[in-house]
Amino acid sequence: MELKTLRCPSCSAIVRNLTENDTEFINCEYCGSTINILEAKSEESDNQNLLLDLAKVEFSHKNFDKALSYVGKILEDNNNNKDALWLRFNILLQKYEGELFYSDSENDYNSYFDDDSDNPYKKYKEKAIKSLVNLFRISSDNERNNFLRKLRKQEFSKAIFNSITVLEKLNDACSQTNSEILSSVLPLYYRSDLDARRKKISLPDKIKNQISQTETNLKKIDSESFSTLNSNYLSDLKTIETENLSKQTYSKDTNLKKTPNITLYLLLALLVLIIFLLLFI
Ligand SMILES: [Zn+2]
Repeated sequence: MELKTLRCPSCSAIVRNLTENDTEFINCEYCGSTINILEAKSEESDNQNLLLDLAKVEFSHKNFDKALSYVGKILEDNNNNKDALWLRFNILLQKYEGELFYSDSENDYNSYFDDDSDNPYKKYKEKAIKSLVNLFRISSDNERNNFLRKLRKQEFSKAIFNSITVLEKLNDACSQTNSEILSSVLPLYYRSDLDARRKKISLPDKIKNQISQTETNLKKIDSESFSTLNSNYLSDLKTIETENLSKQTYSKDTNLKKTPNITLYLLLALLVLIIFLLLFI
């Protein structure tokens, strides 16, 4: 296990700023005692695994606060502990699930992660996402795909795939573009584009750029997914354009019908006036 910090066995102070070159012995900057790095590291690693086991047990018994405190201790010593980051994400979301989720309504559920409401528990949701983003930052593409598979399976986390905000954050955290994330976010961008066209409002430039960038990147790493998503989009686009066109023709038609009606009324009014004048003069 890679540790950037370790705890001094004599005084328990946390020795930070270890470098790759520190392989054998260093002196504790607090008590001055000599620390055998390899020994301290393996001790520390054992300690972290023990805390992780304790956290998992508490989590399985739904003792969320105890589980969080164990996870917190692990991350305090090593904020790159992937198991701990993943566990913290899961604990936070499950702990506040009742307060944060609206699973009874499909729509609300889908917009769950994009919801900007003043929910007092919102910060825990954000904290959970932050753990996930940190985890994605330090994981390999294979590991990320494993996490994504799990996220999709879990009832409380699958709404992530309907959130542009979260998917963008995860995408930004990845050192190399991940096809699963891109092929999840592209249909969401397309949907905003189609909605805008339906309402005849222009799409913000930021989203336009995101669309073309995402298309380019996905085409490069997974051209098959790109083709499927893009052809669905193009067929929806065609439908909307046909609809808009027929609406336009319809309104033109009604305009044409209205114009002679007004002329007709004017002529009638004139005729009545003439008859009126003829009768009384
Ligand atoms: Zn010390």
